[in-house]
Amino acid sequence: MSQSAVGATLGAAALLGGCAFLAPSTPHAASAPAHLRGAAPGASSAAGAAAPLAGAALLATAAALARPTESATTRRAAAVKKKGVKVVHGKEIPWNLFTPKAPYAGKVIENDVHPQTLTEDTGDANWETCHVTFDHGGKVPYIEGQSIGIIAPGPDKKGETPARIRLYSIASSAVGDNQNSKTVSLCVKRVVELDGKFANREKGEDKPDKAGTGFPDNQVYRGVCSNHICDMSPGDDVMITGPTGAEMLLPEDPEANIIMLATGTGIAPMRSYCRLLFHDDAGASADGGRKFKGLAWLFMGVPYSKSLLYDDEHQEYKKNFPDQWKYDYAVSREDKNAAGQKMYIQTKMAEYADELWELMQDEKTHVYMCGLKGMESGMAECFGPIAEKAGKDWAEFAKAMKKEAMRVEHSLKGPDGFEDALNEIRNKLTDIQSDSQRTAKLDRLQGEVKRHVSLQAELLTKTMKDILKQSTTQIWDASASKGAEEIDGIPNLLQKYPRARSLESEKFCLGANGPFFLQFYPNGDAQSQTGKCGLFLWGPDSVYVKARWAL
Ligand SMILES: Cc1cc2nc3c(=O)[nH]c(=O)nc-3n(C[C@H](O)[C@H](O)[C@H](O)COP(=O)(O)OP(=O)(O)OC[C@H]3O[C@@H](n4cnc5c(N)ncnc54)[C@H](O)[C@@H]3O)c2cc1C
Repeated sequence: MSQSAVGATLGAAALLGGCAFLAPSTPHAASAPAHLRGAAPGASSAAGAAAPLAGAALLATAAALARPTESATTRRAAAVKKKGVKVVHGKEIPWNLFTPKAPYAGKVIENDVHPQTLTEDTGDANWETCHVTFDHGGKVPYIEGQSIGIIAPGPDKKGETPARIRLYSIASSAVGDNQNSKTVSLCVKRVVELDGKFANREKGEDKPDKAGTGFPDNQVYRGVCSNHICDMSPGDDVMITGPTGAEMLLPEDPEANIIMLATGTGIAPMRSYCRLLFHDDAGASADGGRKFKGLAWLFMGVPYSKSLLYDDEHQEYKKNFPDQWKYDYAVSREDKNAAGQKMYIQTKMAEYADELWELMQDEKTHVYMCGLKGMESGMAECFGPIAEKAGKDWAEFAKAMKKEAMRVEHSLKGPDGFEDALNEIRNKLTDIQSDSQRTAKLDRLQGEVKRHVSLQAELLTKTMKDILKQSTTQIWDASASKGAEEIDGIPNLLQKYPRARSLESEKFCLGANGPFFLQFYPNGDAQSQTGKCGLFLWGPDSVYVKARWAL
């Protein structure tokens, strides 16, 4: 099967299971590894939740909640079985096909569906979010909900070149934006910080970026990788690692309900799901409808309406699938709720709290969260009162959901240096993994060599034995056909010949082997016992002879 065909089937399989790459399995595609269960990204302060996009905050937390099911409790951490593949609950998913030491060299291509810059200038330094598409030639297959790593040329924060990898959630479905399974798209927010704690451009040094934004009058910190990506143009090289991530995969049940909570670029994995569910040929059913039969409900939080990402696509789904697609967004710096409060994602969700709560009682409902830290506390804010009304404790309910089947992404935003440390650990882990894979490969090779050598030795021994057997048979046959060598006058010889004196026969051949000759000691050779004679058959060293004597 060609790479593109693999990629093309992946998307469908993530939803419905059963294809060449993904073996059919349990209804949920993935759950948190055992050691991560319950280790949801720490809920940040209420202030954090209340101001999700303040400052230079980025995609910070990616988490997914899913309703508990009986089978989910028995699931265990996925194990890497072979290179480039991870087995997640019995299914193989693409995994770290490319590592920081051996990345895939792709090319930036023209976006099919969006302009590179998705947002409009809001006046904030970090206003820009880009949609960038890379050609991977079918070499980097992935499934919805996974991430890839990008290696920028650098220099990185400590001067390293190239820079350490940065992870990005994949924003395209498995088949890619143009559905040829050869591209991958990202949704990347350009990190630009003015006069902050860190700077990599002194006053007067900052030049306008690709979007034309520059800050020559400030000390500027430009994020190493996000600026590298946002400044890319078609034809540019890009170093890709991965794919990775098994925590945010779609459930296989086509009737599952998908609730998506996204802030900012946290929309990336949600876009990847929605493309499969509502757009791609891979998600279409034979009757012209969609394979997906459940409800998908997206709540999105952004600071400005100018930063509402992929709104055109969401409106399109709303128009085409009014019974299956719901879309609500909160624009925190522009909208207010009825009580005059700023509209954050949890404020918007609170408007539908009853409906959402009811949906969450259904075990087919999966809740995916991706974006800023504080979303979890936002959920608590939204569902705490309604849970209480239903006689339940939200914290316990959420914990149970997570414990049983929640997909937990790591917290991405923390104290200064936290993200760096996290990335460093990730890099090391990937390196160790690739090293250990290399060691395992070496071990395997050595094993193979050993097996080969012993097989050769066995063959050789067998061949030698065969040859010997053959030549013995030949000799035996030959000698049998020749008859016995006769030695005349034995009694006379016994009397006349002193010990250790011998008689030698003529040289002769047995079949093709020889020459041979017989040596007879009538009164024994030097080593013989008294009263015994000695008889020797001499021949070439290389010939093994089995002989029977009759004297
Ligand atoms: C699983 C995952 C998925 C992600 N998905 C996306 C996505 O879809 N879209 C997206 O835009 N991002 C995503 N991210 C975040 C992304 O990986 C990067 O962290 C982000 O783009 C910033 O990288 P950068 O190189 O531009 O910034 P960096 O150069 O890494 O700067 C980041 C921060 O480090 C600070 N800093 C600078 N110097 C120092 C120093 N010496 N010590 C300590 N701190 C310093 C800066 O002030 C800045 O705030 C994801 C992260 C993860 C882990």
